Amino acid sequence: MRLVFLGAPGAGKGTQAKRLEAEKGWTVVATGDLLRAAIAQNTPLGQQAHAYIQRGELVPDPLVNQIVAERLATLESFILDGYPRNLAQAEMLESILTKPLDAVIYFEIGEESLVERLSGRRICPQCNAVYHIKTNPSKAGDKCEQCGAPLIRREDDQPEAIRRRFQVFREQTEPLVEYYRERGLLRTINADAPPDEVYAQLLSVL
Ligand code: ADP
Ligand code: AMP
Repeated sequence: MRLVFLGAPGAGKGTQAKRLEAEKGWTVVATGDLLRAAIAQNTPLGQQAHAYIQRGELVPDPLVNQIVAERLATLESFILDGYPRNLAQAEMLESILTKPLDAVIYFEIGEESLVERLSGRRICPQCNAVYHIKTNPSKAGDKCEQCGAPLIRREDDQPEAIRRRFQVFREQTEPLVEYYRERGLLRTINADAPPDEVYAQLLSVL
């Protein structure tokens, strides 16, 4: 399967992608996770990307396109989580794929539900597991229940960066809904539902 997960920040893309990866073995390529790892390791890419991420802006296309092209070169099946995020990236993706996408899953949800999800989100910087302080707390408290690393709050899960990310989503990413609808690839699911229900919808559209 060659899938793209499209949706606003906090819609639940990463949560569902990781579950599909665990159950089906399709590799998740999550550009946000890759960029955060680059920042943590202080690589040249991380140094260039950091300020954009902190502000809730998109990282420039050439940087992101390159990491995606490198990853996809060796993968038959994948779930792209967080890429493409604008029209230029969508066109880039089309040009690097040797086989077409199977589907683009649109996680539809209103912004009202998202602030609560993002402000309570905690992530594992080591294995990228995703938690929520209320709805999905780690069984190991403030440590990751999978790898034991201390959980962190993302620096862009703060009110100002959250507002900017919503704006960027509306202006730059949301037009991709029409782009993929026109190409017959779009499958919409209701992301404003409990995780198991969203997962069941996902399996049924796939
Ligand atoms: P995205 O990858 O789209 O930004 P995440 O998967 O990181 O979203 O989820 C954002 C936050 O919302 C996390 O704290 C996660 O635990 C929580 N979450 C994910 N899916 C749901 C859901 N269906 N209902 C409630 N909370 C959810
Ligand atoms: P995410 O983990 O998907 O919420 O992404 C976190 C941040 O990483 C975004 O707000 C952007 O700053 C950056 N980022 C992730 N994916 C992309 C992308 N495809 N294009 C540009 N920037 C991205």
